[in-house]
Amino acid sequence: ELDLDELDPEVATEIRAELHRQQSTLEMIASENFAPVGVLQAQGSVLTNKYAEGYPGRRYYGGCEHVDVIEALAIERVKALFGAEHANVQPHSGAQANAAAMAAVLQPGDTIMGLDLAHGGHLTHGMRINFSGRLYHVVAYQVDRESGRVDMAEVERLALETRPKLIIAGWSAYPRQLDFAEFRRIADLVGAKLMVDMAHFAGLVAAGLHPSPVPYADLVTTTTHKTLGGPRGGVVLCTKELAKKVDSTVFPGQQGGPLQHVIAAKAVAFKVAATEEFRERQQRVLEGARILAERLSRPDCAAAGVKVLSGGTDVHLVLVDLVESELDGQQAEDRLHRIGITVNRNAVPFDPRPPMVTSGLRIGTPALATRGFTAEDFTEVADVIAAALQPSYDETDLAARVSLLAKKHPLYSHL
Ligand code: PLP
Repeated sequence: ELDLDELDPEVATEIRAELHRQQSTLEMIASENFAPVGVLQAQGSVLTNKYAEGYPGRRYYGGCEHVDVIEALAIERVKALFGAEHANVQPHSGAQANAAAMAAVLQPGDTIMGLDLAHGGHLTHGMRINFSGRLYHVVAYQVDRESGRVDMAEVERLALETRPKLIIAGWSAYPRQLDFAEFRRIADLVGAKLMVDMAHFAGLVAAGLHPSPVPYADLVTTTTHKTLGGPRGGVVLCTKELAKKVDSTVFPGQQGGPLQHVIAAKAVAFKVAATEEFRERQQRVLEGARILAERLSRPDCAAAGVKVLSGGTDVHLVLVDLVESELDGQQAEDRLHRIGITVNRNAVPFDPRPPMVTSGLRIGTPALATRGFTAEDFTEVADVIAAALQPSYDETDLAARVSLLAKKHPLYSHL
């Protein structure tokens, strides 16, 4: 029985190099996080070998006595964490959770309403060549040009005009909280179901630091790897009435055998997310984002054409608007990469530059908070980023400051 180094040194070498990259740079991609070692262990376990089509107690394969216990634990924990009536923990990803949730309440050709991809929505909320845009008739709502916020009067107007069957509230790049009660009111007004995709802010909801969509929505979907800090994967939460429908659209509707190693890792992550330590961490996530937004709003940044979309943040990320900066999104991403900070360029609403270049950056704090970054550390990170976005800057000095921060908060020291 060969270990990975012996069996496949090429892959083993790259995994080690990736570990070093994660340890020595500052990860600020808003959708990323560092899963606890226990989550990595569950995912790398013998559960990867098991077929278990079906659900706990109702499987199409033998030998499911242990995976049944694990999946039931995952279901009970996530229901308790979010106060949901029903949970399906089998979706392989956030995109598949969304596909299953939509299929549970829609027929092909039905109208859906979601936030425009170019304004912070996700591909699965109706992008033209995504399954959502191909299967359903899409009406996209946008953010208001001045405030950068979703305008609920506009959502209501569009809903009344187009009578969608499903309204989707949720985002991949939006720095504010959505008004779930108002979305519910509008959905009821036009007889639509309401789905909230909380993939980005689920960790904040679990910690009680963001309003929960669960009391308002018919369906709530999430990923488990963003602010929640677990393995890559998806979950659908729903009302009792939709439980059967959702279970059958996940399996056999969308998927075959569930990834039991990932489901075990989800169970571990839900346990962690119910702890006081997790809550304290999410507080630092929010504090870090606020510090960053405040720093990037100061006059030196304004003079360089750097602005903060919507003027601040209520969540774990900041959207930087570079429309008036000499730097485009690609150049800004590259600059930060060279000093050891990983972010992603991101289109801003009404972006004049092409999608591969963009005029924005999306910067998130969850991964650094998991590493233990404090308000003081985030202040230093924010100063470094602000300096890097100026017309001239000292790359060597900034890279050294980044390196010091990375050393101050070791990551996966025992791997
Ligand atoms: N929903 C939202 C809001 C997202 O931001 C994402 C991922 O970026 C997804 C769904 C899809 O998740 P996955 O990449 O696991 O398919």
